[in-house]
Amino acid sequence: MPGPVHCVVEEGVALVTIDNPPVNVMSQAVRQGLVRALDAAEAAGVKRVVLTGAGKAFIAGADAREFAAAPQEPHLPDIIRRIEDFPVPVVAALNGTALGGGLEVALACRARIAAPGATLGLPEVTLGIVPGAGGTQRLPRLIGLGPALSLICEGRVIGAREAQDLGLVDAVADDPAAAAMSCPVPNRPATGALPAPPPDPDAVKAAREQAARRSAGQIARLKAIDLVDAATRLPFDEGLALERETFLALKASDQAAALRHVFFAERAAMAQGKGGGADIGSAVVVGGGTMGAGIAYALAGLGISVALVESDAAGVGRARANVARLYADAVKRGKTTAEAAEAEQAARFGFHEGYGALPPADIAIEAVFEDMEVKRQVFAALDAALPERTILATNTSYLDVNRVGEGLSHPERFLGLHFFSPAHVMKLLEVIRARTTSPQTLATALRLAARLKKIPVLAGVCDGFIGNRILTRYRQTCDIMLMEGTLPAQVDQALRGFGMAMGPYEVQDLSGLDIAYANRKRLGWRTKDGFRYIPIADRIVEETGRLGRKTGAGWYDYDGGTASPSPLIDRIVAEESARAGIARRTFSDEEIVTRAISSMIEEGFRILEEGIAARASDIDLVMVHGYAFPRWRGGPMHNAGRIGCAEIARRIEAFAAEDPLSWGVPALLREAAREALNPDDLGAAP
Ligand code: NAD
Repeated sequence: MPGPVHCVVEEGVALVTIDNPPVNVMSQAVRQGLVRALDAAEAAGVKRVVLTGAGKAFIAGADAREFAAAPQEPHLPDIIRRIEDFPVPVVAALNGTALGGGLEVALACRARIAAPGATLGLPEVTLGIVPGAGGTQRLPRLIGLGPALSLICEGRVIGAREAQDLGLVDAVADDPAAAAMSCPVPNRPATGALPAPPPDPDAVKAAREQAARRSAGQIARLKAIDLVDAATRLPFDEGLALERETFLALKASDQAAALRHVFFAERAAMAQGKGGGADIGSAVVVGGGTMGAGIAYALAGLGISVALVESDAAGVGRARANVARLYADAVKRGKTTAEAAEAEQAARFGFHEGYGALPPADIAIEAVFEDMEVKRQVFAALDAALPERTILATNTSYLDVNRVGEGLSHPERFLGLHFFSPAHVMKLLEVIRARTTSPQTLATALRLAARLKKIPVLAGVCDGFIGNRILTRYRQTCDIMLMEGTLPAQVDQALRGFGMAMGPYEVQDLSGLDIAYANRKRLGWRTKDGFRYIPIADRIVEETGRLGRKTGAGWYDYDGGTASPSPLIDRIVAEESARAGIARRTFSDEEIVTRAISSMIEEGFRILEEGIAARASDIDLVMVHGYAFPRWRGGPMHNAGRIGCAEIARRIEAFAAEDPLSWGVPALLREAAREALNPDDLGAAP
């Protein structure tokens, strides 16, 4: 049988194998092939059908290329219904990944046998949709309401053993296809004919509360909860109809489009690591503080040996303790055992005071204080101590990467690797191309990023690169709104309402007001010409010593862990408005969001226009993964495309008319507005 589905009949059993590399996605051709295979099995009068996948996957879900299109025949729900009603038992042999539509196929089978390494899940909500082929109705009938809510609403992917414990698979076998040929078929009705699970209002309420906490504003999770709940009340066929209707409506929604956009942007970013480059086997990390320890820990986890450098014995002691703390944490969270953690530290780590005894290394990553002179001295020392093949990388957050690397003997081996904190957890990595960085160096860095399972985004050199540059602008816009009439608590509440995980002032209280203060000082904002300087944040740091949660007060007062608006801050805000002769006015939450997000978009267009980012979707990735921009809004640039560039330009024009120092329509946005282009259509190589 040609095509992506093969059917072999042997001893009265039809073995149907889905073979659509690399991961057997359920394309239209696979659906057609399945129909033909079922026809052939029926015609051959077999006594059983075994359904399995070739390679490492059973069926990894829908075909991403068909995501945005209208469904094409044959429709998956019809195939699944046929499997469920098939005259002889169909048994799923889950050889590997069974996700989304793949698991929905398996759910309709009379039994499921899984390989020990198989993974199962219904992750549709992560793409802004719900399972659309019976998953929300069959799964709760098979495993009960609570577990089904947890799997479907969190999009959780589980292993074969957990699936067996839940009753989702009947057996685990090393060769599931062989086992499925002859295993007994459980004596129970087809999944769709199982009795509805009893209602559980408490579980439903808890799921709703969790959805509100984790992804406020995202519709798909709430709809998924409704559907699973409906399985307890509606007859099976009515539940299926409601599910399909919900699935089709969500598929066409803005949120699903935004989540697909981020998904494809991530895939494109991660594919960059496949472009060659050398493998890294050994590393030097300079500075064992917050970032250096996290970077070293992540590298060691890949089997890379790490020499961690501090400048004095006390620093070495702190670095050791920082690394040990990360391992202890991993042990506490059950990610490794105490013995394995101990062994990995002993095998992978060397701690060095200075550069005298450094072993040769493939890469050196600097994570010392954010100070130009300190960093330049570190690179001079690395240049002298390490072989000429060693790649040299700085983790600076804002400094001019070109200046940091000036004077190196092999400047083509130099670049920026801007990790986010905590470095071993955060997926985002800004890869900064210095003036001298060679393509080979970039390729090696991207390859390392892929091994670290990071999402790498290429950026050119400018103050703050992509993410911190937009962050700085966004905060400035919010500070301006404080001057003109609003207060921190309203700004935070409005932006949380938009979907940001936290408001800008809450974030500053968490990370410390001193960091942004030092940055403003470095930028010389107080005396900068042609710039609207807002003194509020500087006054807080200089006059009150309130640096955020670490000092027990910042933009907010803290009683224990609870934040409340501070009368002192409100007074400083009011005083500064008065001093500037501003008549304070009211802001709606909507206006706050419009201004804050428009400023991100304006900065994003400048970043594209200057070639700092190669494409709009990279900017979205940075903001979603590094700054908690709501994923379901697709990032600021995707959001701009949804609103329309002409409308964004009009808004910025209006803001610029009243505050020309702070706003202006970038030429690239003007062009996009004129040509009715989407930000994704723009971009220049950095
Ligand atoms: P940190 O203060 O926690 O750690 C800095 C470490 O560098 C300290 O352990 C210090 O002893 C060591 N050090 C200082 N001078 C040294 C020298 N000359 N030689 C060897 N070691 C030296 O700071 P951090 O938060 O880890 O930040 C480090 C760098 O990473 C900075 O450039 C910062 O801007 C950047 N960064 C920080 C974050 C963050 O969220 N913390 C995120 C991204 C990038």
